[in-house]
Parts: sequence; structure tokens; C-alpha cells
Amino acid sequence: MNGFHHLDEATIVSYASGTLSEGLLPIVANHVTHCAECGKSVRRAEAIGGAMLEAVPPEQLSAGTLETIIVRIELGNRLSQRQPP
Ligand SMILES: [Zn+2]
Repeated sequence: MNGFHHLDEATIVSYASGTLSEGLLPIVANHVTHCAECGKSVRRAEAIGGAMLEAVPPEQLSAGTLETIIVRIELGNRLSQRQPP
């Protein structure tokens, strides 16, 4: 086996939102278990999905809005990591 492929973004988003096809699910689940990078992407996609549902009415969604949400999540993650337990 040569060539290691990370999951593409569409696959990660489908996995995070639970819409991935059953055929791909075991492969993707296995990959994110063993790949820190893709595992991180899945958690980020889950966070974005949750934040979008909670914070933004669908009619206000735009490309700019999504980027704002991503920036806010990443800032929030950094801040929460810095706080003492
Ligand atoms: Zn990967």
C-alpha cells in the first residue's frame, strides 16, 4: 500500500452531520480514529454545524457568515484552552 489519502471535506462534513452512507461509514470512522488530523476536522465540522444551528437563522447564512463562525469557534477554542482548569 502506498499513498495515504486524508478524507475530503465533503466526507468529513457528511460524517460529522451523520449523513454519510453506510458503506463509507466504517472506513471513515476507522480513519478518524487513527488520524489525528481528520479527527480534528470532524470535531471542527461538528462544532461548526452545532454553532450554525444554534446561533444563525438559516436565512442569514452566507459565505461570509460561515467564515465568521469558523473564526469565532477557533478563537473560542484557543481561549478555552488557555484557561486554567
Ligand atoms: Zn486523515
